Amino acid sequence: MSKKVFLRTFGCQMNERDSEMIAGMLKEKGYEITDDPDEAQVILFNTCSVRQHAEDRVMGNVRQLRSRKKKDPELRIGVLGCMAQRHGEMLFKELPEVDLLAGPSNIYDVPDLLARSVSSEKVIAVDKKKRPGKKAAGDHRSGVFSAFVNIMYGCDNFCSYCIVPHVRGREVSRKKKDIVDEVKSLIDRGFKEVTLLGQNVNSYGKGLSSRTTFPDLLEAVNGIRGIERIRFTTSHPKDAAKPLFRAMAELDKVCTHLHLPLQSGSDKILDLMNRKYTYSDYLGKVELLRKMVPGIGLSTDIIVGFPSEKVRDFEATRRAMEEISYNSAFVFKYSPRPPAMSSCIVDDVPEEVKKQRNNELLALQKKISLANNRGLIGTEQEVLVEGKSRMSGAEMMGRTSANIPCVFPATEALLGELVWVRIDSTTPNTLKGKVVQAKGRRLAP
Ligand code: SF4
Repeated sequence: MSKKVFLRTFGCQMNERDSEMIAGMLKEKGYEITDDPDEAQVILFNTCSVRQHAEDRVMGNVRQLRSRKKKDPELRIGVLGCMAQRHGEMLFKELPEVDLLAGPSNIYDVPDLLARSVSSEKVIAVDKKKRPGKKAAGDHRSGVFSAFVNIMYGCDNFCSYCIVPHVRGREVSRKKKDIVDEVKSLIDRGFKEVTLLGQNVNSYGKGLSSRTTFPDLLEAVNGIRGIERIRFTTSHPKDAAKPLFRAMAELDKVCTHLHLPLQSGSDKILDLMNRKYTYSDYLGKVELLRKMVPGIGLSTDIIVGFPSEKVRDFEATRRAMEEISYNSAFVFKYSPRPPAMSSCIVDDVPEEVKKQRNNELLALQKKISLANNRGLIGTEQEVLVEGKSRMSGAEMMGRTSANIPCVFPATEALLGELVWVRIDSTTPNTLKGKVVQAKGRRLAP
């Protein structure tokens, strides 16, 4: 009987894609993937180190398995991804129940490590600095209509708060042809939408022998027959510029959404973060983008409580959020992530203040999102029907081109279709409406 594996993913979309690859490789080796940890003989956590909170959750999850592991020493527990890379063997001391560790560039070793962990005590692979360009076996995908496609790995930016370059290594772009071939094979399998993934997609192509830029790649993917939608993330504001905005304006399959992490509205804090732009640089880009791509949906990331963030710095961030009026924002409390540079600066903003600033910005964004969504009432939005709404069995859900969730009465017959929905009401997070046209066919009145 095949062994069952439960694989839980923490963190970003790159981790989600890595987990798909790990699941594909394990299925090729005869393992079965299960959603139920209680019936699994192997439990793997694909982890995130971006914030202390993410690491604490993984630690808690592993410790919960302690008594089970004592009763069942055959159970195999693995910590994969950024935490394994960041802590290395130390994790075996902190979490004695863990049997195997593999860093983000060692994910291709997971089947082998798992096989070895049965006979040896503990196994670890965190040695690779770069991910080999090989294709994962199995090509497992957790979605049905929408798929992630890695276009590059790692990051060269060294924002002072960020652990990513330290655990995922330096930037390496995949060849354009490999990416295009992967997207074509996804379209052949019935996928409609791809999200191109990289820590900074705007520097895609650096180091490739044929000079290729991210707009070139978008154009190549846009030309693939059968593709309906192209999304991408993440863009670094210092590198997002007119050629990207032009591609977004001209390429009909590229969605009208840009995730552009601002992080702070204070130039002093942006400088300490090593972000290499000022707020006015950022605002100028947003204004140009809005001119070139009308109706663009904008989302962002904000960090509150960065060391030395004074009230006036926080107020600058608040004003920036009001001025830019994002569709959505992820707000995080700063936590030092050694060996990232900012961990050398005293973490001097008290936790209570971080919490209060965090809550204030979340409340502000809620108001802004609601106002922006209200502005869409009466409009018709193109939505890819992704699944059933979690709120009501009689409704389906999807996202607009600008990446706003939308629910509407419909049946599963529309799954995977691009439909037009007339918006008639909204909450801060979700538009509601009625399907007025299913692409290619009119609905019966
Ligand atoms: S761009 Fe900055 S924040 Fe983003 S992954 Fe690279 S170092 Fe981290």
